[in-house]
Amino acid sequence: MRLKKGVKKIIVIVVVVILVLSLGIYSFIKIKDKMAYEKTYEYKLTTVGYDLDTSSYLAKTYKDKELEYILKQEKDDIYLTISKEKYFIYDKFYDYIEYYQNNKDKSLTSIVEIVNTNTNKEYYTDTLETDLSKGNLILVNKYYYLPEDYVPEDLVTISLDYAYGELGSQKMTKEAYEAFLNLWKESHNNGYYLMVNSSYRTNEEQEETYNDYAKSGGTNYADSIAARPGHSEHQTGLTMDVFEKGTGQKNFKDTDSYKWLKENAHRFGFIERYPSDKVSVTGYEYESWHYRYVGIEAATYIYENNITFDEYYAYFVK
Ligand SMILES: [Zn+2]
Repeated sequence: MRLKKGVKKIIVIVVVVILVLSLGIYSFIKIKDKMAYEKTYEYKLTTVGYDLDTSSYLAKTYKDKELEYILKQEKDDIYLTISKEKYFIYDKFYDYIEYYQNNKDKSLTSIVEIVNTNTNKEYYTDTLETDLSKGNLILVNKYYYLPEDYVPEDLVTISLDYAYGELGSQKMTKEAYEAFLNLWKESHNNGYYLMVNSSYRTNEEQEETYNDYAKSGGTNYADSIAARPGHSEHQTGLTMDVFEKGTGQKNFKDTDSYKWLKENAHRFGFIERYPSDKVSVTGYEYESWHYRYVGIEAATYIYENNITFDEYYAYFVK
């Protein structure tokens, strides 16, 4: 009996000790977990006002540097919403935020569009030499320029059946010209007769044109109607100004020929480069006659998604 009592006591003590220890370990783990959780961005974001879903999303979407930045700012839905924009580019995060803070009336889509295409900056500021390795997708605009001595490798002469001027004065790259011939044939089958009015231009020609305008009307005037040398797409050999035979550049936009071209050019790899509803994005007035060869894949995407080549380049090519 005595022994049994002793055993019982020991058992009770052992059980109590085990219970106390387990509880201790359990609490310790709990506290440790809690401390670890409190170090996560998901938790930290909840302490500055974001709900758990948003915090969790932000913590997954952004890297440490940006999360630290967000934590220091006042709570704002922009960090969540901007990252869900279709053409959101992570590296441009701070540019979006800065532009948003100064332009809160603009839609997020338009903020992303403007920042992606650099048009948040004055024209011709922070200009960069364009990446020539991009081939048919070379970007030339008010921020990207071609080297002064750039001449496309495979220029061919456009037949005078399809071009104005003297023979040899109108040129395009071989690939763009072949695509144009296919386009021309189909447009002709539909009853139209497209003529190329301007195509490849040398750096010197562009310089002359620009300087003439600048001399007569000043830089602002010249900038409004001509690209600065190096900044003209015509220098790529991938561009053509076209209009229906017998009509002029100005009224081309009112012709059935233009309507057909606008809806079909992409099938041959061409895009309307400066559409009427994209003036603020391209930095160019509406030019119904200016078509750029980018290849069928890019042209089709640009046409179907109603974006500019500048945006396409920022998101898919760069
Ligand atoms: Zn043009």
